[in-house]
Amino acid sequence: MTIALDRAITRHHDSLEELRSCLTGEVHLPDDEQYAALSTPWLLSVPMQPAAVVAVRTAEDVVATVRFARSHGYTVGVQATGHGAHSAYAGHLLVVTKGLDEVTVHPEGWARAGAGVKWRPVIEAAAPYGLAPLNGSTSDVGVVGYTTGGGVGPMARTYGLAADKVRAFEVVTGDGEFRRVTPTEHPDLFFALRGGKGATAIVTAVEFDLVHLPTFYGGAVYFDGADAERVVDRWRAWSASLPEQATTSFVLFQLPDMPGVPPALAGRMTLGVRFLWTGAADEGRELLDQLRAVAEVILDDADLKPYTAVDSVHADPVDPMPVVDPAMLLTEFTDVTAKRLLDVAGYGSGSPQLMVEIRQLGGAYARDAEHPDAFSHRAAGFSVLAVGIAEDPRVLPHWDRLYAALSEWDTGGVWPNFGPPHDAQTARRAYDEETLQRIAEVVRKYDPDGVLQIGEYARS
Ligand SMILES: Cc1cc2nc3c(=O)[nH]c(=O)nc-3n(C[C@H](O)[C@H](O)[C@H](O)COP(=O)(O)OP(=O)(O)OC[C@H]3O[C@@H](n4cnc5c(N)ncnc54)[C@H](O)[C@@H]3O)c2cc1C
Repeated sequence: MTIALDRAITRHHDSLEELRSCLTGEVHLPDDEQYAALSTPWLLSVPMQPAAVVAVRTAEDVVATVRFARSHGYTVGVQATGHGAHSAYAGHLLVVTKGLDEVTVHPEGWARAGAGVKWRPVIEAAAPYGLAPLNGSTSDVGVVGYTTGGGVGPMARTYGLAADKVRAFEVVTGDGEFRRVTPTEHPDLFFALRGGKGATAIVTAVEFDLVHLPTFYGGAVYFDGADAERVVDRWRAWSASLPEQATTSFVLFQLPDMPGVPPALAGRMTLGVRFLWTGAADEGRELLDQLRAVAEVILDDADLKPYTAVDSVHADPVDPMPVVDPAMLLTEFTDVTAKRLLDVAGYGSGSPQLMVEIRQLGGAYARDAEHPDAFSHRAAGFSVLAVGIAEDPRVLPHWDRLYAALSEWDTGGVWPNFGPPHDAQTARRAYDEETLQRIAEVVRKYDPDGVLQIGEYARS
């Protein structure tokens, strides 16, 4: 190692000592064992080599970190769980929010969660009051990362997006100021934080409305992959006729034979129809019976359940995964769309994906929020998501083929949660032009020195 490099590393360590002395949380450098434990994301395929991990415990710690970064020439990123990890390299401080773990549920129907909180503790704390949050397909995802990307969950057609329910954020902006953000306090930030992810601020806590839903009728009904054509054909017509109390999707699974995977689903292609019904259980059961009658059901998990069982609808994996998960949005899902999908990703197609899912949108999802937001995809009719092992060389070329096969119905957009904006190109898919310009204005105003890493896309 050269003397110059040695000196640079010593200076870097000295300056991080200065940060350490201002925090109640901790600073971890690459040679410290907590560094990997805290920075390794759920998405194991995303490389994370930040200059340091800042494990914050308070909002003041976030203020100190952003001010320190601003004056010492670092950029700052933020991670709660790493489900939507964004690579972090040298010269970068990664704020890990796990220590911001407060959860308060108010029985009159709203909750407050710190930025390190996942959906599961909110669901558990709300359940005794018969209340439920608008979490996503798995309660293992972080409340803030999910909500700032819009947040389209298994009740989206009944109640809309998680972002639609936000009352307030508490944030630290790139200029190092702590701010409370509501429809009337910093409304430009209130706009940008509901869809714009962490481009404009690091959220320290969020307050949001809950819905009254002690129980739901739903879960997933699984068929053999060989029956996919019949079931998908019926699902198309059936889903189109459903009222807004129903949110549904279907998934082509190719799950390995491993612990946690039900034997009926392991080692072959299966098709799961997911269904969450917020109305009377008997009506929901009757509606789902129409699908059950189409082909032999190999596993039936749908029933009347407490809301705490909501993860059973999508049955997402919980353990960290080395996967890639490309996505797109469709205007509609016709008989031709279904045929093209199944030709490339259905039974006998040789698809290498672990799963390919189609979610039906519409209903409350399609209606504008009470206050304008930075979510640009209300008009999309369906979402497509594929998940495959990152190291499998067949996975991305196969996605390219699937994307090409469905391109006739491509809206040109992707949810910020399913295609996080990293640069000008990905940002153009995540946002329409007007929204992108508004986010860029907010970024310039609150982060004039470009301290927040994810704001990069709005500056390019
Ligand atoms: C298995 C799985 C299931 C999913 N299901 C759904 C779903 O049903 N619906 C849906 O909409 N999305 C879904 N997602 C996508 C998920 O919502 C995004 O990946 C989201 O960003 C995850 O947030 P996180 O905090 O858990 O992840 P992290 O990787 O910790 O954060 C991801 C990003 O969120 C932002 N962020 C996180 N914390 C903060 C903060 N404190 N302040 C500002 N910005 C912050 C940052 O941009 C950060 O880079 C799913 C993802 C996975 C892996």
